[in-house]
Amino acid sequence: MVSGMRHTRTGWWLEEAVLALGPIAPTRPLEGDTTADVVIVGGGYLGMWTAWQLKELEPNLDVLILEAGLCGHGPSGRNGGFVSTLWDDLPKLRERAGDAGAIEVCRASERALHGIGAWCEQNNVDAWYTVAPRLDVATTPAQVGLWEHDIAECAEVGSPEEIVAVDSAAARAICDSPLFLGGALWQKSASIQPARLALGLRARLLERGVRIHEHARVTKLSREAVATTDGGTVRARAAVFAVNSAAAAFPGHRLSLAVASSHIVLTEPVPDVLDELGWTGGESIADGRTMLHYLRTTRDGRIAFGWGGGRMGVGGRASGRLEVDPGVVAKIRESLVRFFPQLRGREVTHAWGGPIDVSPTHLPIFGSRDAVHHGYGFTGNGVGPSYLGGEILARLALDRRDETTRLALVDPPRKLFPPEPIRYVGGSVIRQALVRKDAAEDAGRGLDPLTALVASLPRRLGLRLPR
Ligand SMILES: Cc1cc2nc3c(=O)[nH]c(=O)nc-3n(C[C@H](O)[C@H](O)[C@H](O)COP(=O)(O)OP(=O)(O)OC[C@H]3O[C@@H](n4cnc5c(N)ncnc54)[C@H](O)[C@@H]3O)c2cc1C
Repeated sequence: MVSGMRHTRTGWWLEEAVLALGPIAPTRPLEGDTTADVVIVGGGYLGMWTAWQLKELEPNLDVLILEAGLCGHGPSGRNGGFVSTLWDDLPKLRERAGDAGAIEVCRASERALHGIGAWCEQNNVDAWYTVAPRLDVATTPAQVGLWEHDIAECAEVGSPEEIVAVDSAAARAICDSPLFLGGALWQKSASIQPARLALGLRARLLERGVRIHEHARVTKLSREAVATTDGGTVRARAAVFAVNSAAAAFPGHRLSLAVASSHIVLTEPVPDVLDELGWTGGESIADGRTMLHYLRTTRDGRIAFGWGGGRMGVGGRASGRLEVDPGVVAKIRESLVRFFPQLRGREVTHAWGGPIDVSPTHLPIFGSRDAVHHGYGFTGNGVGPSYLGGEILARLALDRRDETTRLALVDPPRKLFPPEPIRYVGGSVIRQALVRKDAAEDAGRGLDPLTALVASLPRRLGLRLPR
């Protein structure tokens, strides 16, 4: 492959969106003290969907967002753009809430998937929303059949239509990689251009009268809903805390999540390769590794190829390598060519990455502490669920309890990670073991007993790490 790749924090989606929509003028930071009905800390999808839902519920509400950087420039503007439901978390949900409670969550996550598409249409935001199944595919013999468990679980709750097994020929008819050995199609799935959605949402919120202060990092958030920045404070009736992995730096939330990272490379437009692969239906694809590869196409004929195997973060501390990690990106480029040998000699134009807020159960966490309502823990799957999170947090902030606030994602039983430095050191050792395990399976090698033991620890401890 030819070099000349732009390796940045924020990546291509934002570049493309700004070219299409025009440059973003940052809003003013907070200057002085003010009040609001609801103050939202964090201007990613979760904070912005919450603001949108608040305005839907009470159009005259005074809603104010405080964002440390620019809205939508965190993971919300640079993710893989897979819009998924929570059906693949069904086993965990059944354990927590029984069949009926689990199905309620899954159906609510389906409404979110459709809600995003409908929102784009109604608000004239072209975020490339494309409905197409997601293919979970085996690329090694060890991954074959991993989907059987999901198929059985969906059938047991009377929803066998959610996921359908496909053999190798059918998987390769969707995308003709020589590695594809078979898999399963999650039927309800979509994809988006993530930055177009985030910036579209930001624009519509401003039009709707939501006050947004950017470059306004909150340094303290009291349980009485007083948010403090260097420039001033906001006193509100309720606060929404939607800062993703940065939550791990805030008292009361530190042990509720761990921070990992995920990274993406993007090819130049290769429409000829997509034609050759037959990959023209817009399907998103993920392999069955523990540290998964995820891949999709773009409207202009590129392949975006990501890997969830980036380094761990230390608590909620910002670290450059969670966003720009040349070593990890070099590995992803190798995998890209393994999946698609015809890309040898074609250019990778961009690379980027971002932090992942890992929940101990793999499920997002919503809840309240006095007047502050929080959400995080999307574990690499927040695009669809953050829309649902916005519905939940808006209702919690207005104290409107209903079936949405009673979903089994709200106030879950507390499960904590160990404190630092054990979380970082332990997490990194486990991560390395999982990377070695995946690599051994790719190479058809056996695993040494120590690596096998360490790689099995999360499961033994009842933790589900990103896959
Ligand atoms: C490389 C990558 C690929 C991914 N791929 C997918 C995918 O394909 N599908 C999927 O569903 N999910 C994916 N995800 C995860 C998804 O992007 C997130 O779950 C989702 O964007 C979370 O939205 P959020 O609003 O919680 O977080 P964010 O987008 O991170 O927004 C939080 C905001 O809070 C701000 N903030 C932080 N601290 C403060 C503070 N103290 N004061 C004020 N503001 C603050 C940040 O600047 C940020 O803008 C991916 C993530 C990454 C990094």
